[in-house]
Amino acid sequence: MKITSRALLAGLLVCAALGPCRTLAAVRVVTSFYPVYVAALNVIEGVEGAEAHNLASPHIGCLHDYQLTAGDARKLSDADLLIVNGAGMESYVGKIRAQYPGLKIVEACQGIPLLGGNPHVWVSPAGARAQVDNIARALSDADPTNAARYAANAAAYNGRLAALETRMKSELAPLAGTPVVAQHDSFPYLARDLGLEVVGVIEEGHGHEPDAAEFARTIDLVRDKKVKVIFSEPQYSDRLAQTLARESGATVLQLDPVAQGPSEPVRARGAWLEAMEKNLSVLRGVLR
Ligand SMILES: [Zn+2]
Repeated sequence: MKITSRALLAGLLVCAALGPCRTLAAVRVVTSFYPVYVAALNVIEGVEGAEAHNLASPHIGCLHDYQLTAGDARKLSDADLLIVNGAGMESYVGKIRAQYPGLKIVEACQGIPLLGGNPHVWVSPAGARAQVDNIARALSDADPTNAARYAANAAAYNGRLAALETRMKSELAPLAGTPVVAQHDSFPYLARDLGLEVVGVIEEGHGHEPDAAEFARTIDLVRDKKVKVIFSEPQYSDRLAQTLARESGATVLQLDPVAQGPSEPVRARGAWLEAMEKNLSVLRGVLR
């Protein structure tokens, strides 16, 4: 008791000397790209002094070919913690480790079983929840004073993700086994959650347009497997998806992998749920 009041007095004296007091327990988090940023914002919500800053522009989408900028370097030099998606999404992590040897780097994918090494874990309610738990743990380690707040925020946010997952699974249950083709390899986790069968992708890598022979094989595949639905993505042109649809009679539907969105924290916090809600209504369209 005596020590506590003495510590309190010392604290007050420091405040008096330094002017307005800022909460000491705080953490400056840098995230690698949009979905990690959105999850971190939800975990730190309302925690005084906790900040999240995103490296890539919120419009960049997936990071497969991303190069670090001078602005990124500035953010990293002030950071307490860098949270990346991991699973190979951020090819620049080795460079950051070498350049900022004191910076703690945590992977949101850590410990989550991957499907064929695919990094798009957040494009699934179950995957996103597991990432939120990892991010909350990383924040609690970096800022133990607020550990209970991070855990409570993660639990509340994950509750909303789980509620949406339950609705998606029950409303879309009739889709189980439906063969689909995707623009790129963003949806294997969502497909697994919903029992969809991704039989092929149009682009093997980001920005890798298939050549004529590859595209002809995809057309054959769509016909052979009687694929009725092709998923395009808002961040890529749907030109090839539309051509494929014309050649095969399939329908193009746009699904959002939540790789980009508004950066302003209040809007970004709800961006994953909003995009996945929209995906649910798009997928309901397949049932009609
Ligand atoms: Zn991607």
